[in-house]
Amino acid sequence: MESVILDGKITAKRVKQSVAVDARAFLEKYHRKPSLTVIHAGDDAGSAVYVRNKQKACEKVGIDFTLLRKPDTTTFEEIREAVHQCNTDEHCDGMLVQLPLPGNIDETPLLHMIRPDKDVDGFHPENIGRMWEGTGHIAPCTPAGIMELLDSYAIEITGKNALIIGRSNIVGKPMAALLLERHATVTIAHSRTRDLPDLCRNADILVAAVGRPGFVTPAMIKPGAVVIDVGINRITRDQAQPHWLNTETRIGRKLQEKGSTLVGDVDPIGIGKIASFYTPVPGGVGPMTIAMLLKTTVRLGTLRMETSL
Ligand code: NAD
Repeated sequence: MESVILDGKITAKRVKQSVAVDARAFLEKYHRKPSLTVIHAGDDAGSAVYVRNKQKACEKVGIDFTLLRKPDTTTFEEIREAVHQCNTDEHCDGMLVQLPLPGNIDETPLLHMIRPDKDVDGFHPENIGRMWEGTGHIAPCTPAGIMELLDSYAIEITGKNALIIGRSNIVGKPMAALLLERHATVTIAHSRTRDLPDLCRNADILVAAVGRPGFVTPAMIKPGAVVIDVGINRITRDQAQPHWLNTETRIGRKLQEKGSTLVGDVDPIGIGKIASFYTPVPGGVGPMTIAMLLKTTVRLGTLRMETSL
Protein backbone atom coordinates (compact mmCIF):
# COMPACT_ATOMS: atom_id res chain seq x y z
CA MET A 1 0.00 0.00 0.00
CA GLU A 2 1.34 3.43 -0.95
CA SER A 3 0.51 6.18 1.53
CA VAL A 4 -1.02 9.52 0.65
CA ILE A 5 1.18 12.48 1.57
CA LEU A 6 -0.66 15.19 3.52
CA ASP A 7 0.73 18.15 1.59
CA GLY A 8 0.98 21.10 3.97
CA LYS A 9 2.33 23.43 1.30
CA ILE A 10 -0.64 23.04 -1.02
CA THR A 11 -3.17 23.11 1.82
CA ALA A 12 -1.54 26.16 3.42
CA LYS A 13 -1.63 27.93 0.04
CA ARG A 14 -5.37 27.31 -0.18
CA VAL A 15 -5.89 28.62 3.37
CA LYS A 16 -3.84 31.73 2.57
CA GLN A 17 -5.85 32.40 -0.60
CA SER A 18 -9.03 32.32 1.42
CA VAL A 19 -7.48 34.56 4.12
CA ALA A 20 -6.50 37.06 1.41
CA VAL A 21 -10.15 37.19 0.28
CA ASP A 22 -11.29 37.76 3.89
CA ALA A 23 -8.60 40.41 4.44
CA ARG A 24 -9.82 42.29 1.34
CA ALA A 25 -13.40 42.14 2.61
CA PHE A 26 -12.20 43.43 6.01
CA LEU A 27 -10.44 46.35 4.29
CA GLU A 28 -13.55 47.24 2.31
CA LYS A 29 -15.79 47.08 5.35
CA TYR A 30 -13.59 48.76 7.97
CA HIS A 31 -11.35 50.95 5.72
CA ARG A 32 -8.16 49.48 7.13
CA LYS A 33 -6.29 46.21 6.83
CA PRO A 34 -6.47 43.63 9.61
CA SER A 35 -3.28 43.84 11.65
CA LEU A 36 -0.90 41.59 13.56
CA THR A 37 1.69 42.79 16.08
CA VAL A 38 4.62 40.62 17.07
CA ILE A 39 6.63 41.42 20.20
CA HIS A 40 10.08 40.02 19.56
CA ALA A 41 12.77 40.27 22.21
CA GLY A 42 16.34 39.01 22.13
CA ASP A 43 18.85 37.67 19.63
CA ASP A 44 17.71 34.05 19.15
CA ALA A 45 18.53 33.31 15.48
CA GLY A 46 15.69 30.79 15.05
CA SER A 47 13.12 33.28 16.36
CA ALA A 48 14.38 35.94 13.94
CA VAL A 49 13.71 33.58 11.01
CA TYR A 50 10.23 32.71 12.31
CA VAL A 51 9.34 36.40 12.79
CA ARG A 52 10.57 37.29 9.28
CA ASN A 53 8.49 34.47 7.82
CA LYS A 54 5.41 35.71 9.69
CA GLN A 55 5.99 39.23 8.38
CA LYS A 56 6.33 38.06 4.75
CA ALA A 57 3.24 35.87 5.03
CA CYS A 58 1.17 38.76 6.47
CA GLU A 59 2.22 41.15 3.73
CA LYS A 60 1.33 38.61 1.04
CA VAL A 61 -2.28 38.20 2.18
CA GLY A 62 -2.98 41.86 3.03
CA ILE A 63 -2.46 41.90 6.81
CA ASP A 64 -0.60 44.87 8.33
CA PHE A 65 2.41 43.65 10.28
CA THR A 66 3.93 45.59 13.20
CA LEU A 67 7.12 44.48 14.90
CA LEU A 68 7.85 45.67 18.43
CA ARG A 69 11.54 44.83 18.74
CA LYS A 70 13.23 44.65 22.15
CA PRO A 71 16.93 44.01 22.86
CA ASP A 72 18.42 40.93 24.48
CA THR A 73 18.77 42.99 27.68
CA THR A 74 15.04 43.81 27.81
CA THR A 75 13.07 43.42 31.03
CA PHE A 76 9.76 41.90 32.05
CA GLU A 77 8.39 45.45 32.53
CA GLU A 78 9.32 46.51 28.98
CA ILE A 79 7.55 43.54 27.46
CA ARG A 80 4.56 44.08 29.75
CA GLU A 81 4.42 47.66 28.45
CA ALA A 82 4.50 46.42 24.84
CA VAL A 83 1.64 44.00 25.57
CA HIS A 84 -0.33 46.84 27.16
CA GLN A 85 0.30 49.01 24.10
CA CYS A 86 -1.19 46.33 21.79
CA ASN A 87 -4.07 45.64 24.18
CA THR A 88 -5.16 49.28 23.99
CA ASP A 89 -4.35 49.93 20.32
CA GLU A 90 -7.67 50.06 18.50
CA HIS A 91 -5.97 49.02 15.25
CA CYS A 92 -4.24 45.93 16.65
CA ASP A 93 -6.37 42.87 15.85
CA GLY A 94 -3.95 40.18 16.92
CA MET A 95 -0.72 40.01 18.86
CA LEU A 96 1.78 37.45 19.98
CA VAL A 97 4.92 37.37 22.07
CA GLN A 98 7.59 35.46 20.17
CA LEU A 99 8.99 32.71 22.39
CA PRO A 100 11.45 31.98 23.87
CA LEU A 101 12.05 35.23 25.76
CA PRO A 102 15.64 36.13 26.62
CA GLY A 103 17.22 35.71 30.05
CA ASN A 104 15.05 34.58 32.91
CA ILE A 105 11.93 36.50 31.91
CA ASP A 106 8.88 34.47 32.94
CA GLU A 107 6.62 34.24 29.89
CA THR A 108 3.51 32.90 31.67
CA PRO A 109 2.30 36.12 33.37
CA LEU A 110 2.94 38.02 30.13
CA LEU A 111 0.85 35.57 28.10
CA HIS A 112 -1.90 35.97 30.70
CA MET A 113 -1.88 39.77 30.16
CA ILE A 114 -2.70 39.53 26.46
CA ARG A 115 -6.32 40.43 25.79
CA PRO A 116 -8.02 37.12 24.97
CA ASP A 117 -9.76 38.66 21.96
CA LYS A 118 -6.36 39.59 20.46
CA ASP A 119 -4.53 36.42 21.49
CA VAL A 120 -3.65 34.89 18.08
CA ASP A 121 -1.51 32.13 19.60
CA GLY A 122 -4.43 31.01 21.76
CA PHE A 123 -2.24 30.70 24.86
CA HIS A 124 -4.39 32.82 27.22
CA PRO A 125 -6.12 30.64 29.87
CA GLU A 126 -9.52 31.97 28.81
CA ASN A 127 -8.93 30.74 25.25
CA ILE A 128 -7.48 27.44 26.51
CA GLY A 129 -10.51 26.96 28.76
CA ARG A 130 -12.94 27.79 25.98
CA MET A 131 -11.17 25.39 23.64
CA TRP A 132 -11.62 22.53 26.15
CA GLU A 133 -15.20 23.64 26.79
CA GLY A 134 -15.89 23.60 23.06
CA THR A 135 -17.01 27.24 22.98
CA GLY A 136 -13.79 28.83 21.70
CA HIS A 137 -13.20 30.76 18.52
CA ILE A 138 -9.53 29.94 18.20
CA ALA A 139 -6.90 27.34 19.03
CA PRO A 140 -3.09 27.39 19.00
CA CYS A 141 -1.89 27.55 15.40
CA THR A 142 -0.02 24.24 15.07
CA PRO A 143 -2.82 21.91 16.27
CA ALA A 144 -5.38 24.08 14.46
CA GLY A 145 -3.32 23.62 11.29
CA ILE A 146 -3.25 19.86 11.80
CA MET A 147 -7.05 19.78 12.08
CA GLU A 148 -7.32 21.84 8.89
CA LEU A 149 -4.98 19.40 7.13
CA LEU A 150 -6.94 16.33 8.32
CA ASP A 151 -10.19 17.95 7.19
CA SER A 152 -8.86 18.98 3.83
CA TYR A 153 -8.07 15.31 3.11
CA ALA A 154 -11.49 14.29 4.52
CA ILE A 155 -9.87 12.04 7.15
CA GLU A 156 -12.40 10.45 9.48
CA ILE A 157 -11.74 11.34 13.14
CA THR A 158 -14.88 10.23 14.98
CA GLY A 159 -14.35 7.06 17.00
CA LYS A 160 -10.67 6.73 16.04
CA ASN A 161 -7.94 6.00 18.59
CA ALA A 162 -5.70 9.06 18.56
CA LEU A 163 -2.34 9.00 20.31
CA ILE A 164 -0.45 12.23 20.83
CA ILE A 165 3.18 11.90 21.88
CA GLY A 166 4.13 15.09 23.75
CA ARG A 167 2.22 17.19 26.26
CA SER A 168 3.45 20.73 25.60
CA ASN A 169 1.08 23.66 25.93
CA ILE A 170 1.65 24.68 22.33
CA VAL A 171 1.15 21.31 20.62
CA GLY A 172 0.33 18.18 22.65
CA LYS A 173 -2.35 19.44 25.05
CA PRO A 174 -4.33 21.60 22.59
CA MET A 175 -4.08 18.81 20.00
CA ALA A 176 -5.78 16.51 22.49
CA ALA A 177 -8.59 19.03 23.06
CA LEU A 178 -9.24 19.46 19.33
CA LEU A 179 -9.25 15.73 18.55
CA LEU A 180 -11.49 15.03 21.55
CA GLU A 181 -13.90 17.73 20.40
CA ARG A 182 -14.13 15.83 17.11
CA HIS A 183 -14.98 12.59 18.93
CA ALA A 184 -11.64 10.76 18.78
CA THR A 185 -10.63 8.57 21.74
CA VAL A 186 -7.55 10.45 22.83
CA THR A 187 -4.42 9.32 24.67
CA ILE A 188 -1.55 11.66 25.51
CA ALA A 189 1.87 10.06 25.95
CA HIS A 190 4.92 11.80 27.39
CA SER A 191 8.40 11.17 28.74
CA ARG A 192 7.12 9.06 31.67
CA THR A 193 4.65 6.98 29.67
CA ARG A 194 5.12 3.23 29.88
CA ASP A 195 4.87 0.83 26.96
CA LEU A 196 4.82 3.56 24.33
CA PRO A 197 5.37 1.17 21.37
CA ASP A 198 2.20 -0.74 22.36
CA LEU A 199 0.19 2.48 22.61
CA CYS A 200 1.51 3.55 19.20
CA ARG A 201 0.57 0.27 17.55
CA ASN A 202 -3.02 0.80 18.71
CA ALA A 203 -3.26 4.33 17.27
CA ASP A 204 -5.36 5.03 14.18
CA ILE A 205 -4.14 8.63 14.30
CA LEU A 206 -0.65 9.18 15.67
CA VAL A 207 0.65 12.71 16.33
CA ALA A 208 4.34 12.92 17.20
CA ALA A 209 5.44 16.16 18.93
CA VAL A 210 8.54 15.12 20.83
CA GLY A 211 11.47 16.99 19.30
CA ARG A 212 13.62 13.87 18.76
CA PRO A 213 14.69 12.92 15.23
CA GLY A 214 13.19 9.65 14.03
CA PHE A 215 11.82 8.81 17.48
CA VAL A 216 8.81 6.91 16.07
CA THR A 217 10.07 3.89 14.16
CA PRO A 218 8.15 1.96 11.47
CA ALA A 219 7.68 -0.97 13.89
CA MET A 220 5.67 1.32 16.20
CA ILE A 221 3.14 2.33 13.54
CA LYS A 222 -0.14 0.50 13.04
CA PRO A 223 -0.51 -0.38 9.34
CA GLY A 224 -2.96 2.07 7.77
CA ALA A 225 -2.58 4.70 10.52
CA VAL A 226 -2.67 8.44 9.83
CA VAL A 227 0.70 9.79 10.98
CA ILE A 228 1.22 13.46 11.79
CA ASP A 229 4.82 14.47 12.34
CA VAL A 230 5.13 17.79 14.17
CA GLY A 231 8.85 17.51 14.93
CA ILE A 232 11.34 19.82 13.26
CA ASN A 233 14.87 18.69 14.03
CA ARG A 234 17.99 19.83 12.21
CA ILE A 235 20.55 17.03 12.07
CA THR A 236 24.05 16.73 10.68
CA ARG A 237 25.53 13.63 9.02
CA ASP A 238 27.05 12.39 12.26
CA GLN A 239 23.65 12.58 14.00
CA ALA A 240 21.95 10.55 11.25
CA GLN A 241 20.92 6.96 11.72
CA PRO A 242 22.92 4.72 9.32
CA HIS A 243 19.93 3.93 7.08
CA TRP A 244 19.26 7.67 6.56
CA LEU A 245 22.52 8.01 4.63
CA ASN A 246 21.24 6.11 1.57
CA THR A 247 21.49 8.70 -1.22
CA GLU A 248 18.49 7.25 -3.04
CA THR A 249 16.30 8.93 -0.40
CA ARG A 250 15.62 12.67 0.10
CA ILE A 251 17.20 12.70 3.53
CA GLY A 252 20.33 10.87 2.29
CA ARG A 253 20.76 13.23 -0.67
CA LYS A 254 20.36 16.32 1.53
CA LEU A 255 22.85 15.00 4.04
CA GLN A 256 25.35 14.33 1.26
CA GLU A 257 24.81 17.68 -0.53
CA LYS A 258 24.51 20.04 2.44
CA GLY A 259 25.86 18.09 5.40
CA SER A 260 22.65 18.73 7.35
CA THR A 261 18.90 18.45 6.89
CA LEU A 262 15.57 18.65 8.65
CA VAL A 263 14.00 15.49 9.96
CA GLY A 264 10.81 14.99 11.92
CA ASP A 265 10.03 12.87 14.96
CA VAL A 266 8.99 9.98 12.71
CA ASP A 267 11.58 7.90 10.88
CA PRO A 268 11.01 9.03 7.26
CA ILE A 269 12.24 5.77 5.74
CA GLY A 270 9.51 3.20 5.33
CA ILE A 271 6.61 5.39 6.54
CA GLY A 272 5.33 5.61 2.94
CA LYS A 273 4.55 1.89 2.97
CA ILE A 274 2.89 1.66 6.39
CA ALA A 275 0.72 4.73 6.96
CA SER A 276 -2.46 5.46 5.03
CA PHE A 277 -1.67 9.20 5.21
CA TYR A 278 1.35 11.02 6.60
CA THR A 279 2.84 14.49 6.80
CA PRO A 280 6.34 14.97 5.36
CA VAL A 281 9.03 17.02 7.09
CA PRO A 282 9.53 19.61 5.76
CA GLY A 283 6.31 20.54 3.94
CA GLY A 284 3.71 19.01 6.26
CA VAL A 285 2.66 20.62 9.53
CA GLY A 286 5.14 23.54 9.34
CA PRO A 287 3.48 25.53 6.52
CA MET A 288 0.06 25.04 8.13
CA THR A 289 1.15 26.79 11.34
CA ILE A 290 1.77 30.16 9.67
CA ALA A 291 -1.35 29.85 7.51
CA MET A 292 -3.45 29.39 10.65
CA LEU A 293 -1.81 32.40 12.30
CA LEU A 294 -3.02 34.53 9.38
CA LYS A 295 -6.48 32.98 9.47
CA THR A 296 -6.78 33.57 13.23
CA THR A 297 -5.65 37.20 12.91
CA VAL A 298 -8.41 38.04 10.43
CA ARG A 299 -10.93 36.02 12.42
CA LEU A 300 -10.17 37.82 15.69
CA GLY A 301 -10.15 41.21 13.94
CA THR A 302 -13.51 40.50 12.36
CA LEU A 303 -15.05 39.24 15.62
CA ARG A 304 -13.80 42.28 17.55
CA MET A 305 -14.98 44.76 14.90
CA GLU A 306 -18.39 43.07 14.67
CA THR A 307 -18.93 43.17 18.42
CA SER A 308 -17.84 46.82 18.64
CA LEU A 309 -20.33 47.95 15.96
P1 NAD B 1 8.45 20.26 24.07
O1 NAD B 1 9.91 20.04 24.26
O2 NAD B 1 7.77 21.37 24.78
O3 NAD B 1 7.67 18.92 24.39
C1 NAD B 1 8.17 17.67 24.05
C2 NAD B 1 7.28 16.62 24.63
O4 NAD B 1 7.82 15.35 24.31
C3 NAD B 1 7.19 16.68 26.16
O5 NAD B 1 5.84 16.77 26.53
C4 NAD B 1 7.81 15.37 26.64
O6 NAD B 1 7.09 14.79 27.72
C5 NAD B 1 7.68 14.49 25.41
N1 NAD B 1 8.75 13.49 25.40
C6 NAD B 1 10.07 13.69 25.52
N2 NAD B 1 10.72 12.51 25.52
C7 NAD B 1 9.78 11.55 25.39
C8 NAD B 1 9.81 10.14 25.34
N3 NAD B 1 10.96 9.47 25.42
N4 NAD B 1 8.65 9.47 25.21
C9 NAD B 1 7.48 10.13 25.12
N5 NAD B 1 7.38 11.48 25.16
C10 NAD B 1 8.52 12.18 25.30
O7 NAD B 1 8.26 20.38 22.48
P2 NAD B 1 7.12 21.09 21.58
O8 NAD B 1 7.25 22.55 21.68
O9 NAD B 1 5.80 20.44 21.80
O10 NAD B 1 7.67 20.67 20.14
C11 NAD B 1 7.84 19.32 19.76
C12 NAD B 1 8.46 19.29 18.39
O11 NAD B 1 7.60 19.91 17.47
C13 NAD B 1 9.79 20.03 18.27
O12 NAD B 1 10.61 19.35 17.33
C14 NAD B 1 9.40 21.38 17.71
O13 NAD B 1 10.44 21.98 16.98
C15 NAD B 1 8.27 20.98 16.81
N6 NAD B 1 7.27 22.03 16.56
C16 NAD B 1 6.89 22.21 15.29
C17 NAD B 1 5.93 23.14 14.98
C18 NAD B 1 5.50 23.28 13.56
O14 NAD B 1 4.94 24.28 13.19
N7 NAD B 1 5.71 22.26 12.73
C19 NAD B 1 5.36 23.92 15.97
C20 NAD B 1 5.75 23.70 17.29
C21 NAD B 1 6.71 22.73 17.58
